[in-house]
Formats: sequence, C-alpha cells, structure tokens
Amino acid sequence: MSPTPVRFYDPGHTSGHFAASMLVRCPRCDRIAHFEHRPSAPPDANGRREPRSRLVCRSCGLCQIGTGAYRSSRYTSDCSYPTLWLQTDTRHGELWAYNLPHLDLIRRFVAADLRERAPWYDTGRKKTLVARLPVWMKSAKNRDEVLRAVDRLRATVIAPG
Ligand SMILES: [Zn+2]
Repeated sequence: MSPTPVRFYDPGHTSGHFAASMLVRCPRCDRIAHFEHRPSAPPDANGRREPRSRLVCRSCGLCQIGTGAYRSSRYTSDCSYPTLWLQTDTRHGELWAYNLPHLDLIRRFVAADLRERAPWYDTGRKKTLVARLPVWMKSAKNRDEVLRAVDRLRATVIAPG
C-alpha cells in the first residue's frame, strides 16, 4: 500500500497578508519582539496621523511607535525597518518568514508532494507568496535541508534565547 501523498493547496495569500504582524529582533536587547503595522490612514481633524507601526518587546519592555511610511517589501531602504527574527542562511539561499503562520505555510509547501494552485496562479494578475518562493526552495532535492532550516527557526520562537 503506497502512502497517501501530502497535498498542499496555495491559500492565495500575498506577502502583505503576513507582513501586518512580524517577529523581529529587538533593536535594544536583541531578543524576539513583535512588530505590527497598518496601512496609512488620512489625518484626523487636528491633522494628526494615527501611529502606523508599533514595535513591542516583552523582554526589555521597549515600545516604539512609528508614524513614518512603511513599504511592504522587506528590501526597503527605510533604515527604521526592524530586522526579521525568522531568517537563516542555507547553502542555497536565505530562508525567511514574517511570522510563524508564514513559516508554517512555507513548511507545508516544501513538505508537500502535490502542490495545487488556484486558477489565477498563472494569470500574472496576482503573485501569491507561495508563487514567489525561490526555485531552490521548491526543489525536491533540497527539501530535507529546507525543512531542517524551517524547524531550526521555529525552535528559536518556541524557546527564545
Ligand atoms: Zn527588547
């Protein structure tokens, strides 16, 4: 009896779906911190703008409120952008994720034997996060190494420090 193949169905999330809440490295104590942001809102009646981002560290109590522009790409020139916690180098390239659900999505994708796509996958209208994963991550021969890297990263969140 052959084992049932593990299926993966792309839920169609784009990177913005996960980027709203990230795990980052605290700029003060270097431990794990949470970074949240929301899209820009118009100024209120007094011309003030709502805070656009917030970095909170439970280890040292740092709380940074940001009002500056935020770009959805992690490769931004904005120097106030925090460093992602979930990133590690493999022999093939850098593996990174915004948060644990993002990391789990990558893990499910890499571990799956059958990868199913939404109908619009190839239309070019919308590139999902999964569709943007680098080729080396999708390669079967790298699967074990990528999964090990994913599990290493996950362990740093479950038992930080
Ligand atoms: Zn801290």
